[in-house]
Amino acid sequence: MRRLIRFFQVTTVSMALTVAATLALAHPGLVAIDVGHTRHAPGAISARGVAEFEFNRTLANALDEALASEPGLQPVIINAPDFALGLTARVARAKALGAVLFVSIHHDSVQPSYLTPVHQAGRIHHVSRYASGYSLFVSQRQACCPVGSRHLAERLGEALQVAGYQASGHHAEDIPGERRRWIDPALGIYRFDGLAVLRQAAMPAVLIEAGVIVHPEQEVELASAAGQRRMARALAAGIIAWWRETRD
Ligand SMILES: [Zn+2]
Repeated sequence: MRRLIRFFQVTTVSMALTVAATLALAHPGLVAIDVGHTRHAPGAISARGVAEFEFNRTLANALDEALASEPGLQPVIINAPDFALGLTARVARAKALGAVLFVSIHHDSVQPSYLTPVHQAGRIHHVSRYASGYSLFVSQRQACCPVGSRHLAERLGEALQVAGYQASGHHAEDIPGERRRWIDPALGIYRFDGLAVLRQAAMPAVLIEAGVIVHPEQEVELASAAGQRRMARALAAGIIAWWRETRD
C-alpha cells in the first residue's frame, strides 16, 4: 500500500512538472528587443564613419539568435522590419505583445569636446580614446517596476563582468551632457529617470550601451562577427538569469 501511495505521489509530481514544462514552452517569456534609433536618425557615428544604427541592428540580431535556443524565452525585435517606430510606439508594441522585459540596444559615444577629427581616405572622422566599455541605464521613475528594471540591469551587469567586459564611468563625469547618477559603478549601472523608452515601458526595461564606437580599437571588436556573438551571449546569459530568478 505504501509503495502504491509512493507511486502515485511520484507520478503526480512528475505529471505536474511535465505540465509546468509544457506551459513554459507554450507561453515562453517574450523578450522585446529594441534596435536603438532609426535608419534616418542613426545615432552616433563610429571612428570609421559607420552609423550606430547599423551596430545596434547587428547586435540585436545576434541577441535574438542567442536567445532563440532558450526554450522558456521568445525574443522579438519589436521595431523590425522598417525600424521607423517612435519611442512611445516601441514600448506600446512591447506591451501589446505581452513582453516580460524590454532591452534597448545602443552603442556609445563621448561628448564632442573629447573627439578628435582624423582624415581617412579623403573623409574626416571623429575618434576618441577617452572612454571605452559598456554602460547600462534604468529609470527609477518608471510607473510599473523600477525594482524589476534594476534587477534586470544587475543580472546583465553581472553577466557582462563574468564575460570579461569593463564598464565605462564616463557618463558620471561632472560635465554638461553627462552627470548621470550611479546605481552600481561596479556593474556599470546608471540611473536615467527621464529616458522615455525606459520610463514608459510597462515591464522591466534596460537601455544597453554595448561599447564606445568612437574608440578606434573598441570599434573593431564591436564590428567583428566574433565580438558581436560574444557580447550577445553575455547579454543573453544576463536575461536568462533574470528570467529564471523572476519565474521561480
Ligand atoms: Zn544610441
